[in-house]
Amino acid sequence: MTVYFIGAGPGDPDLITVKGAKLVERCPVVLYTGSLVPAEVVARANEDALVLSSEAMDLDEIVAVCKQAHDNNQDVARVQTGDLSIYSSLAETTRRLDDLDIDWQVVPGVSSFQASAAALGQELTLPEVCQTIILSRASGRTPVPDKENLKSLAKHEATLCLFLSISLIRKVVRELKEVYSDDWPIAVVEKASHPEQRIIRGTLADITEKVEAAGIKATAMIIVSKVLQEKDFNDSKLYDNTFSHGFRRARNVEANS
Ligand code: SAH
Repeated sequence: MTVYFIGAGPGDPDLITVKGAKLVERCPVVLYTGSLVPAEVVARANEDALVLSSEAMDLDEIVAVCKQAHDNNQDVARVQTGDLSIYSSLAETTRRLDDLDIDWQVVPGVSSFQASAAALGQELTLPEVCQTIILSRASGRTPVPDKENLKSLAKHEATLCLFLSISLIRKVVRELKEVYSDDWPIAVVEKASHPEQRIIRGTLADITEKVEAAGIKATAMIIVSKVLQEKDFNDSKLYDNTFSHGFRRARNVEANS
């Protein structure tokens, strides 16, 4: 018996992996994060399966569902939003399962920061402009360690993807303005990949107003980066015909000399 922690993807039921979908289809117990994972994602569960939303459960209750399934020798599909490596409570849950000697495995998923980039049609790394992505959040009820404060992260000028922060947009913008000019590009994607998806583009000067006017309060990704505006970047070396790599010889070496 195993508890499979499955990344459900960002919302679109087609954005779960094939592996995750097959497990949802065959596990007799399906426990999904009803607050963020649409019911359609788990609609592929077997009609005899016990399908439960963990929306109103605390950690003890979630562990109790796993323990009960374990005692019945039934596999569990624990389906959570996006990917399990980011703000998922995987660590605290698996620590409890280890104490109970219950086996578990993780199946990765498409994270909402990736779905948000896709919605924007945006590569988050541009050759020579930006080669780093920082995934973080504003400090709120869950404090962020001081060394990771937004101001210090912003100083890298890497692409910043902020989870769980939209309700703190005023504070986020205030802190970013301490490092960036008012015209620094920022975008908000609400419910990426859901039918209700909305995209707001702006700058530090106007994004707060736009987000508040749109009434966006939850399930949104904030992306802060010069890549959102940059059109003047060099082609990458990957497809450059003067550049050799493991899979391709340079064709036009002289042009490179
Ligand atoms: N593990 C998840 C993140 C869970 S934390 C992942 O990999 O995506 C929940 C936060 O994720 C939300 O506050 C929001 O910032 C973001 N989020 C989740 N689904 C989203 C979606 N469809 N569109 C935009 N942001 C989303």
